[in-house]
Amino acid sequence: VRDLPGDPVHGPRVREVHQAWSPVMPTPVEAPELLAHSREMASCLGLDEGDVRSEQFAQVFGGNRLLPGMQPFAANYGGHQFGHWAGQLGDGRAISLGEVVNDAGRWELQLKGAGRTPYSRGADGRAVLRSSIREFLCSEAMHHLGIPTTRALAVLTTGEEVVRDMFYDGHPAPEPGAVVVRVAPSFLRFGSFELPASRGDAALLRQLVEFCIRRDFPHLEGEGEDLYATWFAEVARRTARLMAEWMRVGFVHGVMNTDNMSIQGLTIDYGPYGWIDDYDPDWTPNTTDAERRRYRFGQQPAVAYWNLGRLAGALSPLFGDVAPLQEGLAAYVDAWEAADGEVTARKLGLAELREGDEALMRGLQEWMAGHEVDMTLFFRALGELPAGADPAREHELFDVVFYDPAKGEAGWPALHEWLAGYRARLTDDPLDAEARRERMRLANPRYVLRNYLAQQAIDLATQGDPSGVHELLEVMRRPYDEQPGREAFAGKRPEWARTRAGCSM
Ligand code: AMP
Ligand code: MG
Ligand code: MG
Repeated sequence: VRDLPGDPVHGPRVREVHQAWSPVMPTPVEAPELLAHSREMASCLGLDEGDVRSEQFAQVFGGNRLLPGMQPFAANYGGHQFGHWAGQLGDGRAISLGEVVNDAGRWELQLKGAGRTPYSRGADGRAVLRSSIREFLCSEAMHHLGIPTTRALAVLTTGEEVVRDMFYDGHPAPEPGAVVVRVAPSFLRFGSFELPASRGDAALLRQLVEFCIRRDFPHLEGEGEDLYATWFAEVARRTARLMAEWMRVGFVHGVMNTDNMSIQGLTIDYGPYGWIDDYDPDWTPNTTDAERRRYRFGQQPAVAYWNLGRLAGALSPLFGDVAPLQEGLAAYVDAWEAADGEVTARKLGLAELREGDEALMRGLQEWMAGHEVDMTLFFRALGELPAGADPAREHELFDVVFYDPAKGEAGWPALHEWLAGYRARLTDDPLDAEARRERMRLANPRYVLRNYLAQQAIDLATQGDPSGVHELLEVMRRPYDEQPGREAFAGKRPEWARTRAGCSM
């Protein structure tokens, strides 16, 4: 990298809001080395393959060197964690280098795992390879699924070891360290606004809101309270649409604390996330939440609403009356219902949602939950359903979706009944078979980042072979396409990988 093309890199404009950040330098690492990168993200930044593979790239994005104009900083924010106000948090191990503004957009570049910041709270500011690969892969997988997300330019190994929560013979075992280069137009979170509000600093809160609207929501019109109300309702609607998208593909965030809720409605902070294999609304990948399951799959839309309530509370000092904030929360409910309905129609291949379709979907979900049915495989098979009843073909299509043969055996009669109802519904839908197939193909991914797939790639990378990460990224670049020769990546979770939880941090 000579220079990043576009406007010169400059300190992101969050620096205008002086109490919202602290200047901090990344802590240099021993031997930064590129492990994998996203060529789409690189190209958005105007970087070619040569740039990405250069020694300069590794030095800059490993945290050892700055490009002209970079003014690194860490942002502060607060948050409600697992339902309780947690006070000041902040970028404890993330350091923003600056932002690039070019024709493709505005891109804040952030190193995660780049060392201590004023917000590290006694922790080391580092990240381990496994969590960094998980964040890298999932950010890009989400992007290719068409779901709003922070992006990842690259993941680099640091040549250093980090001690985390993996134990060997009762002792903490060192693991390889890494840095993920995250990219987003904005890293502001709900918690960014909760922090000044919690301190009773309405002036700072107002300054941050004005800044956020001007930078991240420049299309919004109006001023003062009216503008703030319009903005809050838009945040609510974006959040609702994001929830519907997560539910569409079976993504479970795992830690929906308010500090992990993007103000732009992006998926942010990939920690102990997981993907639904067998459809189970009670499933959470987060081992620390296994008791209460606050952040379980089926609960996500309700948690987002609760989180918006915390944001509304934080914003209330800017409003004379709470009515506009209540309207914003109501906008969430409306937007969620609309987005959920649209997802239902898309997943079932219906031109539009009609009376009874939601019940049809609920019936299917209950059946899937009751019979340990792989969600991704089921919807993909449903897209291939022949127009007329054909038990032999149905058997062929759906035989692969069951995890437990006994539950599968018991599930067939109810499935045939459901399929009959579904077929009847299709007869008065205007889409022809080909259009329906295509609509369903684009709503129901063939490939998702199943936990065991990521884990296999991580295991290989930990032994020094990054090829599994590269291959998985390739597969996830085209999640809706059939990819001949890559059927293994679309298969059910193997029995050895049957865990009730994913991995953390
Ligand atoms: P999370 O649960 O990942 O959202 O993290 C909650 C807070 O802890 C955030 O403010 C993080 O920046 C911080 N944090 C997590 N891990 C580390 C670490 N290894 N070093 C410093 N801060 C951390
Ligand atoms: Mg976080
Ligand atoms: Mg995190």
